[in-house]
Amino acid sequence: MIELKKPQIVILGAGYGGLVTAVRLQKKLNVNEAEITLINKHNYHYETTWLHEASAGTLHHDRVRYEIPSVIDQSKVKLVEDTVIEVNKEAKIVVCENNKEIPYDYLVIALGAESETFGIEGLKEYAFSISSVNKARHIREHIEHQFALYAQDKKEERLTIVVGGAGFTGIEFIGELANRVPGLCKEYDIDQKKVRIICVEAAPSALPGFDPELVSYAVARLEKKGVEFMIGTPIKGCTEEGIIVGKGEEETEMIPAGTVVWAAGVRGSSIIDKSEFENMRGRVKVEPTLLAPGHEDVFVIGDCSLVINEEINRPYPPTAQISMQQAEVCAKNIVALVRGGQLEDFEYKPKGTVCSLGDDDAIGVVFGKKLKGTSASIMKKIIDNRALYMAGGLSLMLKKGKFKFL
Ligand code: FAD
Repeated sequence: MIELKKPQIVILGAGYGGLVTAVRLQKKLNVNEAEITLINKHNYHYETTWLHEASAGTLHHDRVRYEIPSVIDQSKVKLVEDTVIEVNKEAKIVVCENNKEIPYDYLVIALGAESETFGIEGLKEYAFSISSVNKARHIREHIEHQFALYAQDKKEERLTIVVGGAGFTGIEFIGELANRVPGLCKEYDIDQKKVRIICVEAAPSALPGFDPELVSYAVARLEKKGVEFMIGTPIKGCTEEGIIVGKGEEETEMIPAGTVVWAAGVRGSSIIDKSEFENMRGRVKVEPTLLAPGHEDVFVIGDCSLVINEEINRPYPPTAQISMQQAEVCAKNIVALVRGGQLEDFEYKPKGTVCSLGDDDAIGVVFGKKLKGTSASIMKKIIDNRALYMAGGLSLMLKKGKFKFL
């Protein structure tokens, strides 16, 4: 008897989108129906939405990650620990660093985001970005190293930390930093007044698009902890010595700083450009079914995808929330393709947004209700725990979740 070849489903990236797709598919499909391969740079998944905590050093980086085999059924999903280099769409092959060529019948691209520096000179070379566990650990260690060096050479700029961008990531990182600094100063015998945390934002307000009353609350709370805001100030360049900001029409000012963290821009994975998918800054404007335009076998989800909010005719911001919702529909649509069913359209159902201001404070709008302070902070932890539950169920949530609510 001739055995028919099973369809090969290949998922690129084990972040929110890719991992949730994999765990849903392992439940929906049986081993005789398809072979599922999950390719990820590391054998662990990290909570990208917690990386600012690991970067500031308020949460150990091992708390932010867990091993992928702990949540996948390896009899159904084969994990390949490798780096994707490109997708050859014509040959239907994924090219990787070590395993070279992995063929697919159905592909899910969920490779997440990369830092976007908009061509600002020096940022790539001298500024950090909060974009992986290893980068987060590097930021934490760099800041500690600067504090340790200051204890010897007293160069005050070592104690200046500049954060480029007062968007979500920038503000969440600053909130953690502001909480970490008192402990760091105690550890390194440093007068806290000498430490500067400066947030530089080109837009006319922090957290553009967020409720103005909540933004004022956030800024006031962080200023009280010593954070300096330079709003409406563009970053013009970055050097080994610090950051160059625009002042008025033509003038610039150099702010010496031991640490510069760029948190003002992300784009989709460069693998998207390299693989020649039509894209805008590494993001593919997907069909309602989440297929890449012109393709019947390639789904793009998470930060690599672009979904338009029809109400305002602008793309939804890339978030973990939308990535996980897309993963649910993507898994259903792959099952439909394998079994010959009808594809479903993706419809985003925003539940709200919460921005932390450290472990003990936050702002947010959830199901249309404004929250700030402790209630928002509790809600943030519930959201964080829910993401764990979505990927690994109750056991993962109990193992890695955040349960210190007050
Ligand atoms: P990711 O979850 O980032 O996963 C991508 C995966 O692909 C990673 O495992 C990576 O290692 C892997 N990968 C990348 N390149 C390769 C390659 N070439 N080969 C193999 N593997 C590769 N969103 C919210 O909804 N709420 C928040 O509160 C929030 N806070 C955030 C705070 C911070 C500090 C940051 C940085 C982001 C935050 N976001 C938040 C955004 C959210 O994290 C992203 O939108 C979400 O992670 C996107 O999911 P994804 O599946 O597309 O990618």
